[in-house]
Amino acid sequence: MFNRDPAGVHRMPMLVIRNALIFDGDNPDLTEGSVVVENGEIREVTDGAAHLPGAIEIDAGGRVLMPGLIDAHVHLMAVHLAMAKCADYTMTLMTAKSLPRIRNMLERGFTTIRDVAGADHGLRQALADGDIPGPRAFVGGPGFTISGGHGDHRRKTDARRDRDRTGNGQEWGSRIVDGPEEMRIAVREELRRGADHIKLMASGGVGSPHDAIEDWQFSEEEIRMACSEASARGKYVCAHTYGSEAVRRAVAFGVRTVEHCNLIDEATARFVRDHDAYVVPTLVCYEVTEQHGEALGLTPYVMEKLRFVNEAGIRMLEHCEAAGTKMGFGTDLMGEMEYAQSMEFVIRARVQKPVDVLRSATRINAEIVQMEGRLGTIAPGAIADLILVDGNPLENIALLDGQGEHIPLIVKAGEVWRNRLEARKAAGSRHGG
Ligand SMILES: [Zn+2]
Repeated sequence: MFNRDPAGVHRMPMLVIRNALIFDGDNPDLTEGSVVVENGEIREVTDGAAHLPGAIEIDAGGRVLMPGLIDAHVHLMAVHLAMAKCADYTMTLMTAKSLPRIRNMLERGFTTIRDVAGADHGLRQALADGDIPGPRAFVGGPGFTISGGHGDHRRKTDARRDRDRTGNGQEWGSRIVDGPEEMRIAVREELRRGADHIKLMASGGVGSPHDAIEDWQFSEEEIRMACSEASARGKYVCAHTYGSEAVRRAVAFGVRTVEHCNLIDEATARFVRDHDAYVVPTLVCYEVTEQHGEALGLTPYVMEKLRFVNEAGIRMLEHCEAAGTKMGFGTDLMGEMEYAQSMEFVIRARVQKPVDVLRSATRINAEIVQMEGRLGTIAPGAIADLILVDGNPLENIALLDGQGEHIPLIVKAGEVWRNRLEARKAAGSRHGG
């Protein structure tokens, strides 16, 4: 799968994908042409056919070539929906169990993901080195929570605040942080370890036992501290938020991406837009978890919260669409629900035009992970993350749903990860036509 010789040196031949209809991650008008890939990057996009001696040549057969998909809200390590099931898991077991779900994301055409609580720099490196198959990862380590907040899963009888640092598999996802000084240290520690962003649980949540959805969490001083420490290193803060008040506080205090936002009103959607921040909807997780949650061990209180935010989700999309708020693309699926990742495309298309949904999952998500122009686009100088779609997803976005059945070609960083088409070496003497 990976082109490495026994010494571990990458040998990546030049790649030409010709006869493609190109969606560049932004322009709704497809262009016919070829893409030339060299050393993992796009060297050239031409409107004719390109033939290069010695290159691997792939005939796209007039299919739609688009940037690899990006999911900006996943939890790679969330191997079960009900976290209690992980009580006796070590981190090695958690990691081993996460590997199939990580690989499945790439199979669905996601060449990049942003993990917003759980995955660390070690997993990111294993993916980057090709030791395990999966998307490229942007990670933030554990999500930060206040005592009693969305990420605090202690029992009422448990007063130990350091449980999140024991390495127990159940505590993979969160770190308890109270007070601005503790926040300063916690942010610096995670950035020291290589976090790409910092995640704050800035409101109540569905899965948490002690808080209401509408609660806001973290004080102004704590949020401002996190944002200023992150921005000092060129990084940013993302925040879990549901209600308008929580969203407004987070954004006003410096948070760059607000996640979920199901209960946002239109005025707050405009507020997010005016502050150049991003909303990252994750609608599929509510829709699918509502179907299966009870059977998988969610409590009646959690199921009640789940139904409440699921109902509100579509209105959130309408408000953000009407306000012109920048929307990323996320899924947030835990454990057994992960199969439904690409259903998010179909849910979003109930309100948005397919091209806007695709922009969210390519160009806009690339901005979110601070890789504008390098990811989420087909242009010279971009990293060569490419997928080929059987049919036109701008007309039928359901082609992306499922497990990648309609994606015969997946290229990640210039390496052909899947090719169900015919590939052949170009004859040395052929010239472009
Ligand atoms: Zn999440």
